[in-house]
Amino acid sequence: MINYTERIALLMEDIVARVPTLSFIDMGRIMVFGRAGRSDAEGAYATCHCVCLPASEPGYYFWRDRGTGNLTRRSEWFVTKSPVVTIGTKQIDYMISFTLPRFCDQMMSRSRKQVHYEGQPNWVAKLDTIVHELYHVDPERPGIRRMERADGTYCANSHGHRFFEDVVEMVKLYIASDPDPAVYDFLQYDFEELTARCGGVVGSTFRSFPSYPQRFTEVLNPQPAAPEGVTCRVEPLKVPRVMTRFTEDDLVIREFLPHTSRQLIRRGKFVAA
Ligand SMILES: [Zn+2]
Repeated sequence: MINYTERIALLMEDIVARVPTLSFIDMGRIMVFGRAGRSDAEGAYATCHCVCLPASEPGYYFWRDRGTGNLTRRSEWFVTKSPVVTIGTKQIDYMISFTLPRFCDQMMSRSRKQVHYEGQPNWVAKLDTIVHELYHVDPERPGIRRMERADGTYCANSHGHRFFEDVVEMVKLYIASDPDPAVYDFLQYDFEELTARCGGVVGSTFRSFPSYPQRFTEVLNPQPAAPEGVTCRVEPLKVPRVMTRFTEDDLVIREFLPHTSRQLIRRGKFVAA
């Protein structure tokens, strides 16, 4: 079987070693994991999740009277926080997820990338996606890279025209650097071909699959004083209980099939001592 997320992580290591714009990235602080996504359904191929953002400023929800505009009630104070994800002794800053098997079947001919890669093979669309997600890592501050427009303002959706062009440039630079085909050749096969060649496609996922570490809300305890001039009723905030810390023990290997996936039992794991 091919461990697809591991192969992507190894390829990413080679990319950040060869592409100067991405050389600041420490792959020890990036985790690649799999999410479910069918090839015949719409949806993202990959996503960059930042788990190193500091906690938000304290805030609260409030309700106003439509007539008078006065606050009628508010929620307790809360903050939003990033989960803590550690692998061994390293804290993870960014997680990059790939939807499987959809990503294996990404094609140049079906995407707007085609115009940038005339004459290039289909699998370069996947390389473009991988570089794209790495480019979301911000070199200066925790968070997703903000793209500056020509007028100095920032694009709301963190892409903007230049983002895509920069990615194309980096992809071409990587290919021109003459990397070892053994590092990237798995990209040339679609899901069916990989399954036939390798006997299956597996990837690292969280035990809680399909859920994975996400930013969460925490009610402040003790509660700060009421905001100045606000005397309305305070309602308790009901927040779902979620896991907030994750380690390598929370990772499992799943096999991805065309329409479903299943967790693999690690050999020896449940053998009695
Ligand atoms: Zn993006």
